[in-house]
Parts: sequence; structure tokens; C-alpha cells
Amino acid sequence: MLLEVENKLHYLCTYSRANFMKRNIFLWLFIAYMGSFFAPALPAQEIARAKEVIDSLCAPRMHGRGYVGKGDRKAADFIYKEFQKIGLLPFKENYYQFFKMSANTFPARLSMQVGKARLQVGKDFIVNPIARAGKGRGKIWRFDTLLLKDKNAQELFLKTDMRKRVAVLTEKEFHELLALPKKVIEKIYEAHAILQLSPKKLTASVAPESSSHPYFEMRQVTFDSLTAPYLPKQPKIKYRLDAILEKNYTSQNIIGYLEGTAEPDSLLVFTAHYDHLGRMGRDCYFAGANDNAAGVAMLLELAHYFKANPPRYSVAFMAFGGEEMGLLGSKHYTEYPLFPLERIKFLVNLDLVGTGNEGATVVNGTIYKKRFNELLAINEARQYLPKINARAQAANSDHYFFWLNKVPCFFIYGLGGISAYHDIYDKPETLPLTKFKEIFGLVKDFAEAMK
Ligand SMILES: [Zn+2]
Repeated sequence: MLLEVENKLHYLCTYSRANFMKRNIFLWLFIAYMGSFFAPALPAQEIARAKEVIDSLCAPRMHGRGYVGKGDRKAADFIYKEFQKIGLLPFKENYYQFFKMSANTFPARLSMQVGKARLQVGKDFIVNPIARAGKGRGKIWRFDTLLLKDKNAQELFLKTDMRKRVAVLTEKEFHELLALPKKVIEKIYEAHAILQLSPKKLTASVAPESSSHPYFEMRQVTFDSLTAPYLPKQPKIKYRLDAILEKNYTSQNIIGYLEGTAEPDSLLVFTAHYDHLGRMGRDCYFAGANDNAAGVAMLLELAHYFKANPPRYSVAFMAFGGEEMGLLGSKHYTEYPLFPLERIKFLVNLDLVGTGNEGATVVNGTIYKKRFNELLAINEARQYLPKINARAQAANSDHYFFWLNKVPCFFIYGLGGISAYHDIYDKPETLPLTKFKEIFGLVKDFAEAMK
């Protein structure tokens, strides 16, 4: 409905603009001339192109850009072709840089039932990233805080047969287990599956390893509603999970550059990770629109821009894999750089740039103060974002290993807007891109003004 109104408005505006132009051609030329000083950071057709990139990277055939169905490789191939179309140069024979990693994956069957209720993966429950495969049906064993204080309760508990049970604990209770005697902890882990209850939203993740149990997560409110104490009989939990630990998986970075016109030996570097959380069974995948299809779309827009406006310094564009698994692609790059890291004049990492309603945060802003002030001055002059915060060093995205290797760098992420993050709700349909063109403008101006 909203879209329809927008289209109508758009039509009305273009119609009246065309008539206005015919009647007032001199006035229009003057406005166009003045307008060139205040050109929008990113024209509408480029925003449409960025949206197409985000849609492609989030499509089901990319499997959430994880390690089921070679989703990461499909996304990498897509970015490779975009690099080719733009005309970026490779540092080696092509844009690829391969690296090995390990990944726990959930490629096929996945179901959970509490009593008669069939639960929906992603919405009602998720799989903990270190879960191993398994199937079973069992009574619920709910952790009792009495175990923490009462020796008698512990003795009694040691007599319980846990082998046919699903152990259910909150996140907090999991941490408290450490205070218990070893034999009590071991007894809990005799349960054939674990269900962890979360007070907040479900936040998925990935892991390079697998544990001893099928391991699920559910919101506390969901669990409470399914197991209400007034029910005549407590329901059993039934589950089935296929999991494969891929121990020697090959993933890749995609890296290209444009040669500088005046000082080609110095490089500005833009980075964005393209991987995401992949698939959780056959019915669920994590599209990762804000994290980080939007960052890749911005990386490509920067490449388009600098191809059309040849830069003073050389500019490298790096799309990293394995970020969610622990910054693996960028770590690999800093161990096997394609040119000496000392030649990087500055690096900007883009991750979560699809919002920005409330401005942006710059990691390392308090460290590289002069550069941060340059960024603030540009923002002040162009009024891109309502607010830019400086933050100290943080190991939260792909700039980190560069920073450890003394490469001056920022990591910029947007604030406000949607709160979808590492869940099924981070999808293109609801990604606002409110300040996408402004963040693009800010980063582009910052790079161009760099001395
Ligand atoms: Zn990310």
C-alpha cells in the first residue's frame, strides 16, 4: 500500500518537473548549475543498484552466505563478477585469496516439538552453533536453583536418571553451573539434549567446532507458555537435528584495486565482510541484509565511484569471508598481504551500514583523533548524519587484525532503525537504508580529502 502511494507521488513529481523544465529552461539551467555544488551523495539510480546487490546477496540461492550449499562461494562469485564489470585490477592472477577454515553446519533435517506444538526454527527456537547432530524424545528436566545452595538437593539429584531427559537452563544458570561440584555438572550433562532459555531475543551465531550434545535455544517466554505449570501433564520435547562439522572447508576473500593517479604506491583500503550465518536446516537461512550485504553494496558503490573519478592514491577493495566465524578472512589477509601493509595510508571497514537514523559510530575514533576530526568536519559541512560517535578500539569486525598490525583504520557502523541482528528478521524487505547514501558520501569525501 505504502509503495503504491510512493509510486504515485514519484510520477506526479517527475511529471510536474518536466513541465517546469520546458517553461523555465534558463531558470532550470541555473538551478542545475547551483545544484552541482550540492549534488546528492549517491543518486537514486545508484541506490537502486545497491538494493539489487543486497537482494542478490540475500536471495535463497546464496543460503545465507554460510557453508551449507557453498553459500559463501556463491556470494564470492557474485562479488567477483561485479569487480570484473567495474573493471577493478587483481593483485595476482585473479581476485581470489583462498583460506582454510572449520565450520559446524546444519544442512538438512531440523525439527523440534514441545508436546503437540511443532516449533518454527528461527522464530520459536534456534540451534546453538556448537550443537552436534542427534534425535530424541525426552522429559524436561528444569534446573532448580536449590542445587546451588543445598547439599541434600544435590545428593538427591545425583540419584536421578538423566539419560532420557532434556536439560533446560537459562543463560544465567549455565554460568552458575561452574560453582557446582564436578559430579553434579557431569550428571546434568548425562541429559541427551540441552535447551538454553534466553531472556531476550534469539541471536544466532556460527562456530568452528562441535560439542557433545544436540543443543538448542529458546526464548524464556516461549518455553513458559508451552510448559505452563497448570498443564495437566508436562509435555515432552522431541527433536531431530542433522549437523556436519566441516573440518577443512575452503573459503575466500575477493580483492581488487584501482591505481592512483598521483601516488599509486600509497593505498586507501575499503573492506566489508560478505559472509553471514548461513543455513539452519532446510527451512531457515539467515539473509543478513544489514550484516553485511549492505556493507558489500557500499563497497561496490565506492568501487564504481572511484572508477569514474580516478583517485589520487591507489584504492583497494576487499570483501572478506569468515568474519562471523572469528574474523578469519581478514586475519588471513594480514598474515598473507598482497602488498606491504605499511603502504596502507588508511583503511575503512564497513559493517552494518543499512540504517543510520541516529547517526554512526566510529571504532578507533578516539585513537586516530586527527582523522576523526576530519570526518567530523566533513559531516558538519555536508550535514550527512545527525551524530557521529567516537569509540575506542574493539575486536568486533574486520578492521581488527589490521589495527593489530599498526594499519591506521576505522570501522564505521550505523545506529538506530531496525534492531534485527543475527536473526531471521535481518532481511532486505525491512532494511531501511535510511542513511546509506549519506554514509557513502561521508566515506567517499573522507577518502578524497585525505592528505
Ligand atoms: Zn557483520
